[in-house]
Amino acid sequence: MLLSGRLLAQYQEPPGQRTAVLPLGPGIHSRFVKIVLDSERCTGHGRCYSLAPELFDSDDEGHSVVLTPEVPDGLEAQARLAVENCPETCISLVD
Ligand code: SF4
Repeated sequence: MLLSGRLLAQYQEPPGQRTAVLPLGPGIHSRFVKIVLDSERCTGHGRCYSLAPELFDSDDEGHSVVLTPEVPDGLEAQARLAVENCPETCISLVD
């Protein structure tokens, strides 16, 4: 049985059976972390898209736009950096 992420954590093997854990391929996420941006509170400092340009961009007025709501593997550190450096605390990460 092929399982990934959250399903694998919840799966209980029947007695006497082994589950093959296969490596995740490109585009398959090992975790389900999503970026939530409170656009009402964004004042356009630009720290998020400067520090995490693969996850955020700016609109015409300099306010943040999330490029990829589901954080791809390998970009978790960028996402956390954006969260920690937003002066308005309007970026959060949820499972
Ligand atoms: S750092 Fe925060 S306030 Fe600044 S543009 Fe990004 S989301 Fe908006």
